[in-house]
Amino acid sequence: MNPDKEGENVSLIPDEAGYIIDTLIACGYEAYCVGGCVRDLIMGIPANDCDITTNATTDEIKAVFSDKRIIETGIKHGTVTVIINSVAFEITTYRIESTYSDNRHPDKVTFTRNLSEDLSRRDFTINSIAYNEKEDFIDLFGGKTDIENKIIRCVGDPVKRFEEDSLRILRGIRFAATLGFCVEEETKKAMLSCKHLIRNISAERIFTELSKMLCGKSIESTLIEFAPVLGEVIPEINAMHGFEQHNFHHIYDVLTHTAVVTQSTPPVLHLRLAALFHDSAKPFCFSLDEKGVGHFYTHASKSTLIAERRLTELRCDNKTKEKVLRLIKLHDTPVEESEKIIKRRLASMGKELFYDLITLKRADTAGLAPEFAERSTHFDRLEALADEILKKEECFSLKHLAVNGRDMLSLGLRGKEIGEALDFLLEAVIDGKAENERVILIEYAEKIKSKTTDNNKQ
Ligand code: ATP
Ligand code: MG
Repeated sequence: MNPDKEGENVSLIPDEAGYIIDTLIACGYEAYCVGGCVRDLIMGIPANDCDITTNATTDEIKAVFSDKRIIETGIKHGTVTVIINSVAFEITTYRIESTYSDNRHPDKVTFTRNLSEDLSRRDFTINSIAYNEKEDFIDLFGGKTDIENKIIRCVGDPVKRFEEDSLRILRGIRFAATLGFCVEEETKKAMLSCKHLIRNISAERIFTELSKMLCGKSIESTLIEFAPVLGEVIPEINAMHGFEQHNFHHIYDVLTHTAVVTQSTPPVLHLRLAALFHDSAKPFCFSLDEKGVGHFYTHASKSTLIAERRLTELRCDNKTKEKVLRLIKLHDTPVEESEKIIKRRLASMGKELFYDLITLKRADTAGLAPEFAERSTHFDRLEALADEILKKEECFSLKHLAVNGRDMLSLGLRGKEIGEALDFLLEAVIDGKAENERVILIEYAEKIKSKTTDNNKQ
């Protein structure tokens, strides 16, 4: 029962989870919600998935819910998934994870009938609270206080816990970034001293954690504080850390600038990844001119290569990777406030990526010295111009052009001449030399064609 709503009989957990817990208890077992959903519940965040822990074995769980749809994929780890009202709930038998020889997989999973043993194998105090409506919170490790004080702290000895499973290091940093919590001193020390162990984790799992982390609300401080850990996965971060730019545009070193830019983008994965890598080659492209001013020629294309390499290693999906690479490559290229230029960009990049580029470039100015902050108004104007072009449905790509390949065929053009002619007509429309009307464009094309034929004859 919610302590604030005593007497109102308001359920804090989804009805289906309440039903599962009540049913298991009615059959003589113990059952609680546990993990992320309890953490969310204490923080007042609606729980999206609710994990249930019980002293019933998987066979016993299956017997209790024999009239329900059951998925058995996690049986080996003690998990039975029960579907209620089309929602899947994972019910897991209390378990102890014994020895870990590879820093990630327990050598053996042992089941137990004892809740405290199950809670003590969980990673962080904030994730080790059990709850049911009858007994309220079972909080053996001070998780509630840590949630109130916004602290990430390991259950037990942090070094041991990270040696058992080094994914916990990244999970802890991810929770700090997403919840806006601080990592407790001993836990943080252990994250840094055990950082090399994350090399044992699969690329996919690292990327999952990194993605969630990057989209966190406190990514700026997290990136700076845990740079050495992330540097295990993306070594260029180590080079960025503390790298002074010696340029009047900048007051921050490359990593701090990157952290500010990342925080200044919306929490969308491809934008945050583009921000993370946009200047990653700067330390390798640095030169000082005779006046002592730092320059980073070709850093955009070299940062694109670094991002490509690291994202491929991390098994980032191709669609995301492609967007990230295009954004990084263009992040340093000026975009003038001209309709023609914007139309060409819209045509070559597509509208979504063009807006993303403006968003990234605007965030990039947030990481400059404060006297350059007003530059962001340039991006507001660019966006307004693009909005206008799109609203007026002006022609900026071949698909808006009033003529098509068939028209060019009927003019007698063949093969690659057709594409060239259409590109030419599009240019003419964007430049205002011809109106986007079929008759006008066909006439224009005919004129050009006869000119080229005459030229060829001479
Ligand atoms: P979210 O679902 O938001 O990612 P969560 O805390 O629910 O957060 P899950 O991965 O769903 O995370 O795991 C559920 C619970 O299982 C955790 O809250 C924690 O108690 C435990 N847990 C998960 N992964 C580990 C791990 N690597 N080591 C120890 N306990 C873990
Ligand atoms: Mg969860």
